[in-house]
Amino acid sequence: MSKNKEKLIFLSSLLRGGILISLIRKILKMRLLVFSFVLLSGLMFNSCGSNSSKEIQKTTKEEANVEFTCLMHPDIVSSKLGDCPICGMGLVEKE
Ligand SMILES: [Zn+2]
Repeated sequence: MSKNKEKLIFLSSLLRGGILISLIRKILKMRLLVFSFVLLSGLMFNSCGSNSSKEIQKTTKEEANVEFTCLMHPDIVSSKLGDCPICGMGLVEKE
């Protein structure tokens, strides 16, 4: 029981000093900040995600129509731009 009494005295002293209120206000403010930050980052992430997915769709669409080959090794045909696995030369667009 004495512990509870001490707690009450401690709380009342805090209340009298207005520390608790300012602390609560700070916490509420921080929560609001965190909430808005999460909301903002979520929106940004969503917009970025949709953008990148659109870009990926675009590139995959472009790559679907274009094939890449090595100038020295016409047998090498790749759907992606890269290096020839045989000589390491950069692949070029196949006509
Ligand atoms: Zn090659």
